[in-house]
Amino acid sequence: LRTLDASVAFHAGRRPDHPAVLCEGRTVTYGELHRRSNRLGHALRAAGASERARVAYLGKESEHYYEVLFACAKTGTILVPINWRLTVGEVDHILRDSRTEVLFVEEEFRALAEKAIAALADRVQVVVVDRDGDAGAGILGWAAGHPDTDLDRTAHEDDPVAQLYTSGTTGLPKGVVLAHRSFFAVRDALASEGLSWIDWREGDVSLIGIPGFHVGGLWWATQGFNAGVTNVALRMFISGEAVRQIRQLGITTACVVPSMLQMVLSEPDAADEDFASLRKVVYGGSPISERLLEQAVERIGCDFAQIYGLTETGNTAVCLPPHEHVVGGPRMQAAGRPYPGFEVKIVDRDGNRLRGRAVGEVCLRTPAHMIEYWGLPEATASTLVDGWIMTGDAGYLDEEGYLFVCDRIKDAIIVAGENVYPAEIENALAKHEAVLESAVIGVPDERWGEAVRAFVVLRPGTTATPRELMMSLKGRIADFKIPTGYEFIDTLPRNPSGKILRRELRDRFWQGQQ
Ligand code: AMP
Ligand code: MG
Repeated sequence: LRTLDASVAFHAGRRPDHPAVLCEGRTVTYGELHRRSNRLGHALRAAGASERARVAYLGKESEHYYEVLFACAKTGTILVPINWRLTVGEVDHILRDSRTEVLFVEEEFRALAEKAIAALADRVQVVVVDRDGDAGAGILGWAAGHPDTDLDRTAHEDDPVAQLYTSGTTGLPKGVVLAHRSFFAVRDALASEGLSWIDWREGDVSLIGIPGFHVGGLWWATQGFNAGVTNVALRMFISGEAVRQIRQLGITTACVVPSMLQMVLSEPDAADEDFASLRKVVYGGSPISERLLEQAVERIGCDFAQIYGLTETGNTAVCLPPHEHVVGGPRMQAAGRPYPGFEVKIVDRDGNRLRGRAVGEVCLRTPAHMIEYWGLPEATASTLVDGWIMTGDAGYLDEEGYLFVCDRIKDAIIVAGENVYPAEIENALAKHEAVLESAVIGVPDERWGEAVRAFVVLRPGTTATPRELMMSLKGRIADFKIPTGYEFIDTLPRNPSGKILRRELRDRFWQGQQ
């Protein structure tokens, strides 16, 4: 199996009555998922969506999202998932840039797409997803008149199947075009060497913690579907709800971003026994502090695997396997090592390869990487160079080929010519008892160029002064890295994939300066 359409057809034949997706008490079996996506595929064709047509989905997590994914896989159309937390302007950009022909949208988010819909008037067909309780309404009603027979087409592993928009921390979001192979490469690589870093068992119940409009969530969901296990979709991630579902559904495996782990472990009602069914937790998408990882390992007590990668690499290229998750061990701060057949190198600004723990730009060469940035040949050429994805992350390799990610290169703070990476300081701050989490940025400084400033979220019921925090960092990190300014805030601005939006914190300091 090397394509998503073949996966669902296979499991529908093998275990038709096995639950494929659970969402808010609704169950869709593999047989139903196959038939519903066939029907949607016929409906898409009847609506005029030919191969390579873009089909957008704007809504929260639900079984319908995955029905549309497989309908796209079966018809050769390309799914454009849209983050429902985006602004009108961003949604408008994505719909126009992708030249979406069919838009599936939950009623709640119609207004968000209205501007683009009006502008694309006769080009975009709008299908309201929900209200499937009423006969003839909603997405199922829309497709109802069509057969559920197989579509006379099989995809090739190099066919594009999804176009995901990057979070756009720099400039306008770009559409990353991914082929079927992006969703099979890790499985094949691990299988070829008999590795069980990320493995599946027949009885697995998998929690899709990261939303499916993000590459991490989509990748994880497809791993579950490819393995034929039960996947649990949360409408949106609410930590109390996640804990409840883990307990009630006996979830065995989950994929989350570090901030979700943080929230789940901070749930006042969550006891460690609530996590008893978990066998493996896969996490990644942003740096994780040593303290949080240690707490998670100790309290949840199952296998952990960290993943590192980008939308452009079809998600993970590097993995920290379960056996390296040793509290106090040497690799607890590593992102991991590449899967068999995947490669990592570190280069300097001129593209020369660096060795021996020297920090430079992380480059990845993998069988899962994107086809292109949609409609942007120049951006594609500068990111995908001789088969290597230039990640924009700073990092280094240890002697055994384990990658340590410092942070985004662009987030580096330059203090008197020295590069300081926020993640290192945030990690050191997290060791202080009172610190729940923090975000570190550079602010203009006449003397040193930039000064380090920390935004700190304290644990409920605790206090700390800037002086105490400074003292706690002494000896832990070099003096020039210790923040000189501190602000206490209630929550950190984050995007849904858990990344701190440092730009939001930085803007007010840099106005008129850059
Ligand atoms: P995106 O393309 O939006 O999925 O984001 C990719 C970026 O997330 C990478 O370039 C890293 O900066 C960050 N990232 C992903 N996984 C990790 C990880 N395990 N550790 C640190 N940073 C990560
Ligand atoms: Mg990115």
